[in-house]
Amino acid sequence: MTGKFDVVIVGAGLAGMQMLHEVRGAGLTAQVLEAGGGAGGTWYWNRYPGARCDVESLEYSYQFSAELQQDWEWTRRYADQAEIMRYIGHVVERFDLARDIRFHTRVEAMAYDEADATWTVRTDTGDEVVARFVIMATGCLSEPNVPDIPGVKTFAGDILHTGRWPREPVDFTGKRVGVIGTGSSGVQAIPIIAKAAAELVVFQRTPAYTLPAGDEPLDPELQAAIKADYAGFRARNNEVPTAGLSRFPTNPNSVFLFSAKEREAIFEHFWNRGGPLLLRAFGDPLVDPAANEVVAEFVRGRIRQIVTDPEVAAKLTPTHVIGCKRICLGDGYYETYNRPNVRLVDIATHPFEEITPTSVRTGEGSHELDVLVFATGYDAITGALSRIDVRGRDGLSLREAWLAGPRTYLGLGVPGFPNLFTMTGPGSPSVLANVLVAIHQHATWIGECLKHLADNGIRTIEATPEAEHAWGQHVSDVAAQTLLSSCGSWYLGANIPGKKRVFMPLVGFPDYAKKCAEIAATGYPGFALAHDPVPATQS
Ligand code: NAP
Repeated sequence: MTGKFDVVIVGAGLAGMQMLHEVRGAGLTAQVLEAGGGAGGTWYWNRYPGARCDVESLEYSYQFSAELQQDWEWTRRYADQAEIMRYIGHVVERFDLARDIRFHTRVEAMAYDEADATWTVRTDTGDEVVARFVIMATGCLSEPNVPDIPGVKTFAGDILHTGRWPREPVDFTGKRVGVIGTGSSGVQAIPIIAKAAAELVVFQRTPAYTLPAGDEPLDPELQAAIKADYAGFRARNNEVPTAGLSRFPTNPNSVFLFSAKEREAIFEHFWNRGGPLLLRAFGDPLVDPAANEVVAEFVRGRIRQIVTDPEVAAKLTPTHVIGCKRICLGDGYYETYNRPNVRLVDIATHPFEEITPTSVRTGEGSHELDVLVFATGYDAITGALSRIDVRGRDGLSLREAWLAGPRTYLGLGVPGFPNLFTMTGPGSPSVLANVLVAIHQHATWIGECLKHLADNGIRTIEATPEAEHAWGQHVSDVAAQTLLSSCGSWYLGANIPGKKRVFMPLVGFPDYAKKCAEIAATGYPGFALAHDPVPATQS
């Protein structure tokens, strides 16, 4: 099948869905190409037991329609995967999105044609779609990381990945299950699998700091109060560096202005309240290693209190800077290691040696298993972009252009790739903000940009190399003012062997959003704009 549109949007996750709405609003035609069988992106694929958002529901929602945000009633403080999928289904129907989405269609390649200033997008179904603009809404956490452990292909039991969970429920009853990975996905799945399985072996490389999520039914009075001034609520959240939780402002004072007893009481309060608020209890834990250590030590103390076996508690105790890997939220995570059917294997000390048809062998021994769950995360931020063969001007490959680390201007445009936009791309706040807010900001900015180009007869927009270079430096400089790059996180690409280590997201949503608005208001400096050729006069 072929087709010609103003815009191709790659991905029908939360970003692609809003982008489609904005493109229609700009009066342009669009086709969304989506590998999955339905909309929802990461939520479509992440059906693992316990999958739940770690951003509060009233904030992890669209703000482009005042009516939608008034009408939709969230039921939990943090929505689970099923509730988010109901919301996604509602949005698809309410805004009649599906008529412009081709499901079961994975984009494999795209190439820019200089003469026509168009992109030709090719898919695994043999479709060829031509468009003036391409918007990559491919998601920051969508390309699974499946470690190549020797012998993994010989395993005779079921192999699952949290980020590609089957649609049919998986029954762990009576099974011997191994889970590899203890990041956000593992931390949510492990307590639930442990309850069903006969035995659970958790293979942990780096212990995570896990705070109680404090999930609970959503307080109807809170929901009503926020809905009474949703616009004001959103505006206040936009002024917070992470674009959220303005109800809980960061205490600007140093940890060291408080006595040990006062600090303990403050930490205790935030621990019991649930959520990632512990890092807001004081102003300096993400910039001062000594202050960070005080917060980290509080969490370590909690682990020692909860986990009854001191050896297991020691293995579960993280030593890295708290907050430099994303904080995990999970209810009942540490308690799970007190169960008699759960065993923790430290693969940092005793690495994997081999997977056989029936077992996983590490330096510490062999574990007979029926099911192996990879909770090993993603090739984050650039993975989904790099797996597509994107060819810009003169056949320039995006994958190759980014071998030394991703380069963008504003996380939105790349030199050599005219009329291509990357939503929540590297160099934008993306995963360091409430990603729904980051999506909203990009979708509305791109929508307005497309309208500006159409209204002014502009044929192409392309980031300049100078702007991209200066922006890359800015992203690194801002990260260097924090402790965020002090450990081997996926923000840096450190979880993927061979991936160049570059801190990819930009710290600080409010300044970024203001900068983007200023750029749009002043004629898009840093982008080269080329006008439609003037038609030759008839002689
Ligand atoms: P992740 O945070 O990258 O965690 C992956 C885990 O697998 C880590 O423990 C990692 O260890 C381990 N691992 C990776 N490669 C390995 C290997 N070769 N051998 C052994 N262990 C290996 O991935 P995730 O848990 O899927 O979460 C990714 C992000 O998705 C989160 O940070 C969050 O932003 C988002 N997420 C959010 C939610 C939510 O909203 N609640 C839920 C799930 C995911 P190392 O730490 O040593 O690399």
